[in-house]
Amino acid sequence: MTTDTRPTPADSDRSDLRFIIIGAGMAGILSAIKLREAGLDDFAIYEKADRLGGTWRENTYPGIACDVPSHLYSYSFAANPEWSHRFSPGSEIQAYFEDIARRYGVYSRIQTGKEVTRCAFEDGRWKLEMADGTTDVGDFVIAATGVLHHPAYPDFDGLDDFEGTTFHSARWDHSVPLAGKRVGVVGTGSSAIQIVAALVDQVAELSLFQRTAQWVMPIENPAYSQEEKAEFRRHPEAMGAIRAEISRAFIDGFANVLVDAESPVMQAIHTTCEANLENSVKDPELRERLRPDYRAACKRLIMSDGFYQAIQRPNAKLVTEGIDRIEKSGVRTRDGQLHELDLLILATGFRVDRFMRPMEVVGRNGTRLEDVWQETPSAYMAISIPDFPNLFMLNGPNGPVGNFSLIEIAEMQFSYIMQLVELVRSRCCNQVSASRAALERFNAERKQAAKTTIWASGCKSWYLDDDGLPTAWPWTFDRFREEMAKPRLSEFEMR
Ligand code: NAP
Repeated sequence: MTTDTRPTPADSDRSDLRFIIIGAGMAGILSAIKLREAGLDDFAIYEKADRLGGTWRENTYPGIACDVPSHLYSYSFAANPEWSHRFSPGSEIQAYFEDIARRYGVYSRIQTGKEVTRCAFEDGRWKLEMADGTTDVGDFVIAATGVLHHPAYPDFDGLDDFEGTTFHSARWDHSVPLAGKRVGVVGTGSSAIQIVAALVDQVAELSLFQRTAQWVMPIENPAYSQEEKAEFRRHPEAMGAIRAEISRAFIDGFANVLVDAESPVMQAIHTTCEANLENSVKDPELRERLRPDYRAACKRLIMSDGFYQAIQRPNAKLVTEGIDRIEKSGVRTRDGQLHELDLLILATGFRVDRFMRPMEVVGRNGTRLEDVWQETPSAYMAISIPDFPNLFMLNGPNGPVGNFSLIEIAEMQFSYIMQLVELVRSRCCNQVSASRAALERFNAERKQAAKTTIWASGCKSWYLDDDGLPTAWPWTFDRFREEMAKPRLSEFEMR
């Protein structure tokens, strides 16, 4: 069927549809809440870990916070008057998701310790296999498996020889004492910057191993007063107004302009970051070592109120010589110097091309996701893949994953997905997935548009694929919102 108008339901709505949600992070919880709200109560949520929360469960490093303002990084339907700060810490965000899951009746529905290892479309339904040997069958799969959740480990020579403690920033070992220790942090991404600012006053020495300098956008992070919180409780609409205001400011002042590297707003962001470096770092030699040689926001922009202060503390050291190897007592840099350490933190990011993998996903006629995504993962509108009917992704490949609220994005995506589900529920079709032609067109247009984004302006980052092309949504946020408002049904194959 290739009509752009919604077909008329042929019969009464189907009430037998079963949904499988994979992942109980922000997007999985959202999916469950929205399915319930739509009266589609036959669903299972499988979570491989022992607790919900996704990225906020896994990342517990000191200083972790969301650099999207909390009143925007909340579900639109569940404003939270209790946020402690403009940018609240990770533990509060984790508690928020637990609270919302309970309040909206989906907490008890989450099955933890359930890793889905295989997901195959057979006889018109999705058959799932779990690592523990159990199985399930559903009509729809919602892959809410996250973006940044497979830690990337550097392949330093000698890493195993290190006699101190080492772990990835997303696998923080809280049993390791910090006081009086010599700590090394590898990386200068958003995680490392937050860690450095939080750790420097707790440890004896802090060495930051920087491969690439980062532009830092200054932010202020005031606490909400008791009076402000009381006011939010009395007048929840005030939080809605704050949210709308921040959202608009983010969209106009950032999200809509990232895609036009030459826009005056991008220039202004660069100037602000430059001024932040000039005004915050006193020592000219250190300042130059901290100065990136690419444009602000080419890599994901760092938002910080404390990094420059932290790196100028007497016990902090910025190491810009490359790492040669790891030895039993520390890090040997290429200039031959040994940086002795008790603890080495690898804030080295994530394998961003994994998405729902390593789960084995087999679509129609035995089509394997691993083959389809062999070169690079992609999905029509970041949601649907040809030949994988009734399987939809939240925050899948090619979505807007800059410095935005992924909650706002997931909410838009889910309402789009529900419109596709509705086609099946109303018996217009049994299977729906993006057509090959639609994905090809989407990818061609996306790749063309990506060339003029700030991410393509001359730096290396996790936004780029193996060919150096940005994979994220290359158009404005407003265009994303418009696309998500209503699926173009002519782009879908329905059977
Ligand atoms: P990241 O941005 O990918 O940064 C990884 C860092 O490790 C980079 O500085 C990289 O250097 C360095 N690195 C990697 N391998 C290395 C090696 N072999 N030798 C030396 N240095 C190496 O990772 P991340 O900081 O964990 O952040 C990932 C994403 O998570 C962020 O971009 C953001 O989207 C999200 N995040 C968000 C927040 C938030 O507040 N919302 C907080 C943390 C993370 P190069 O730059 O030279 O490659």
